[in-house]
Amino acid sequence: MTVEQTLAQLVAIDSVSARSNAEIISYLAGRCERAGLVTERFAHVDETGAEKINLVAQTLAGEPFSGSTPAEVRATIELALVGHTDTVPYDSAWIEALQLTEKDGQLFGRGACDTKAFIAAALTAVESIDLSKLRKPLALVFTADEEIGCLGAKRLAEVNPFIARYAIVGEPTSLQPMRAGKGYCLAEITLRGREAHSAYPQLGASAIFRAARLIERLEGIAQELRNDQRAGFDPPYTTLNVGVIKGGSAKNIIAGECRFTLEWRTIPGQEAKHVLRLLNKAIEDLQRSDPDFVCEVDDSRADESFETSSESELVQFLETQSGKGSGSVAFGTEAPSMIALGAEAVVFGPGNIRVAHRTGEFVPIDQLNQCVRILSQAIERFCL
Ligand SMILES: [Zn+2]
Repeated sequence: MTVEQTLAQLVAIDSVSARSNAEIISYLAGRCERAGLVTERFAHVDETGAEKINLVAQTLAGEPFSGSTPAEVRATIELALVGHTDTVPYDSAWIEALQLTEKDGQLFGRGACDTKAFIAAALTAVESIDLSKLRKPLALVFTADEEIGCLGAKRLAEVNPFIARYAIVGEPTSLQPMRAGKGYCLAEITLRGREAHSAYPQLGASAIFRAARLIERLEGIAQELRNDQRAGFDPPYTTLNVGVIKGGSAKNIIAGECRFTLEWRTIPGQEAKHVLRLLNKAIEDLQRSDPDFVCEVDDSRADESFETSSESELVQFLETQSGKGSGSVAFGTEAPSMIALGAEAVVFGPGNIRVAHRTGEFVPIDQLNQCVRILSQAIERFCL
């Protein structure tokens, strides 16, 4: 089967994150088993009751999986090719979303770019190779729920089923190897006050004024964060943003509550918690002059940054094969989870992230074919 036919079959399976990914996993498991790989499913029921599955398919060259106790006996994988099976939702007006369509050398469909093109290329590459010749273990890793916070890959890292030496994480990078990425962290901050008639401010305490004082401190923290810089990022420092604020109930009531979101994107080498520590210090300072300053911080997300050395053999291999120098990504990826599993990880794949997620996303056919060639060569280079 050609890589284009494989991509058409993958696009035809609706795998938006809100649904179970059991159907696409069963398709992928069948393809991998027919190619001679041993598959293992790591299933989980999400909060909506949908079954979400991570699939690990590996050659027999390594230690066998333990099956029942994966955490105890871990396979060592030389090279893992990682692709997420879920896609973002599609507009009902896009009637060909699940039907791969070609126009001007480009293939259109939901997930065609992000990230089914990489999955189709990985399957095609594996099927083109005589796996019995491989001396070091190769794995295909297919994850769930990447688009809603890399949840599947994080769960896989917790289960810890294998140790990987190298991982290529499929994402549309226009075939440029990406060896670093900023972290992504989010917190919701709630300030409390005391409601009163606005004609008598001395009877209340404004949660909005308190929020304003804290936000002014955050602007100072954002300025301070600029002093710690990492080359290769735009901008080269950790950024933060107060994106949403809500507070108060009427113009003539002293506000009893004010909430805002704080989002920050960390540079490699700086822990996600660094900004939280600066935030907590600012809150303590404000409490000294206002003992009733009540503030709750719900830090719901902390995806770490990642950086793989420019000296890594995988980085250098992909730079040579693609003819492109390595760069950094501005969006969240599964690379930190693969690094947690021991890997030197690089994000790499066909298609452009700027057309991903939109109606009419597409992958150029020449990049799709080039990706098959590069992944085949990677398997031979690292596993033969
Ligand atoms: Zn993606």
